[in-house]
Amino acid sequence: MSATLNKAELAKQAKDGFDVLADLYRYSEQGDYDAIEKDDLEIRFKWFGVYRQKPNTGHFMMRIKVPGGQLTPHLFRVIAGLGEKYARGFGDITTRQTIQYHWLKIADLKPIFETLSSVGLTTQFACGDVPRNVVGCPLAGVSKDEIIDSADHLKAVADMFVASGKEFSNLPRKFKPSVGGCHVHCQQPQINDYGLFGVRRANGEVGYGLLVGGGLSDTPHFGQPMRVFIKPEQVVDVSRAVASLFRDHGYREKRGRARLKFLVADKGWEWTRDTIEGYLGYKLERDDSILHPAACNGDHMGIGEQKDGNFYVGVPIPRGRLSTDKMFILANLADKYGMGEKRVRLTNKQNVLLLDIPKENVEALKKELEAADMPPVAHQLRDTLISCTGTEFCNLAVVETKHRAGRVLKYLEENVKVDFPLGISFTGCPNACAQYQIFDIGLTGTMLIDRNRKDEAGKPLKIEGYNVLLGAGLGANPKFGEVIAKKVPGDLIHLAIKNLVESYRAQRVDEDESFQSWVARSEPEYLQNLIESAVSDPNAVPLTA
Ligand code: SF4
Repeated sequence: MSATLNKAELAKQAKDGFDVLADLYRYSEQGDYDAIEKDDLEIRFKWFGVYRQKPNTGHFMMRIKVPGGQLTPHLFRVIAGLGEKYARGFGDITTRQTIQYHWLKIADLKPIFETLSSVGLTTQFACGDVPRNVVGCPLAGVSKDEIIDSADHLKAVADMFVASGKEFSNLPRKFKPSVGGCHVHCQQPQINDYGLFGVRRANGEVGYGLLVGGGLSDTPHFGQPMRVFIKPEQVVDVSRAVASLFRDHGYREKRGRARLKFLVADKGWEWTRDTIEGYLGYKLERDDSILHPAACNGDHMGIGEQKDGNFYVGVPIPRGRLSTDKMFILANLADKYGMGEKRVRLTNKQNVLLLDIPKENVEALKKELEAADMPPVAHQLRDTLISCTGTEFCNLAVVETKHRAGRVLKYLEENVKVDFPLGISFTGCPNACAQYQIFDIGLTGTMLIDRNRKDEAGKPLKIEGYNVLLGAGLGANPKFGEVIAKKVPGDLIHLAIKNLVESYRAQRVDEDESFQSWVARSEPEYLQNLIESAVSDPNAVPLTA
């Protein structure tokens, strides 16, 4: 046993996470939370998407994988049924296009797994040191503008990783794949461990570019371009090769350094490309013109025409939280108004898309969605304000996020005009599950002493707050947001956002000037003052529950 390996590595050596399933079933049959062995509970259960929930009341969070967010009405109903029966009737759509349930008991896990398995769904490798859910464009295969239809390529990659079993069940840490052919590269290839993104060459040939070594967390990196052209038939082999490189060369001593991004940053893109080719056994086609994707992000909300003449209808889900009642409604509406495949897709902005709607059904569907309090056309921030789990259920969170994000969204909907693309992220800690470094306004949780407010003993009050990052953008010249203001009181953050939005709208050169561009030409001190003056106004009214 090596003294240099971290605790998780030692636990994995003692028992591979992939081998925990039989134990998990045994614990579930016993129904005894206290009988669960500590490393199974804290570490290995994650290999099957199961986390201990905080606060520790003997409950679990479970993540259901949905590769590319691709569902059918039937699968959505099965997921809704599980949430209704076991998870207190609600779930969260995540930025990796999965669904998270809370409040599960140990006895619930086996029947849940059996139900998921019966319809071809799985939680295998939803968490842990493994290839995670493969993210992709929710319009894959239907978008009129896509560069390449990536739906089947993504599915083949996801199937390969599930079937790989122990081949990739002991990676140094998590490994996040992204495969998409979308024209705006909404699948965020630049911030995943590797990203395959659509490329159309001058001769009309379509395939993929390859970025390796991206990731956020508390030390964000953009993936580095491998400067190669990947043919569609190479997608699965290249995915396997990148995962193999990480498995065999990734750092395993310090857990904080065990992500692929650190290895690629240290070794460089040429070493990375050459090593991938070593696993492949052949050279990839060199193309120095394939660097970063030109555009990036977006969510395909709204109502639009598909390439087959049917329509897609985007359904914004405020900060990703969805009752199982609404899941059933969405699944049933997809069945009622769709034709053919009647596909349902989850997006990485925590929203839902209903596909395959004939033109003549769009209006009636829209009306039913409005009646169900899920209007497809709504305030822009319903699409683009997202949040992570926060202290409500997350072991690592510093502050609450979901409920505050809901209150702030309601305030902004009622009080602030947003007629331009604006992403806002509420993230509960630096781990970046809500990707705060790539949103126009990124908020990351912190605690602060508010000297203007006193507790019952007359001492300055300790309250939740956020650091505010501005200036982020993906695409050809990607940039992470920078901290502009620190320790902004959480219950006044809505006023800081309002002041930023109104100042931008008043000062933008024209409607083509983006929020990012306005931030870039503004002095940081000026932006900081916009935030701090809004929250230090003595008449400022806190937004509380
Ligand atoms: Fe938890 Fe932090 Fe991830 Fe939010 S970002 S879900 S608080 S680990």
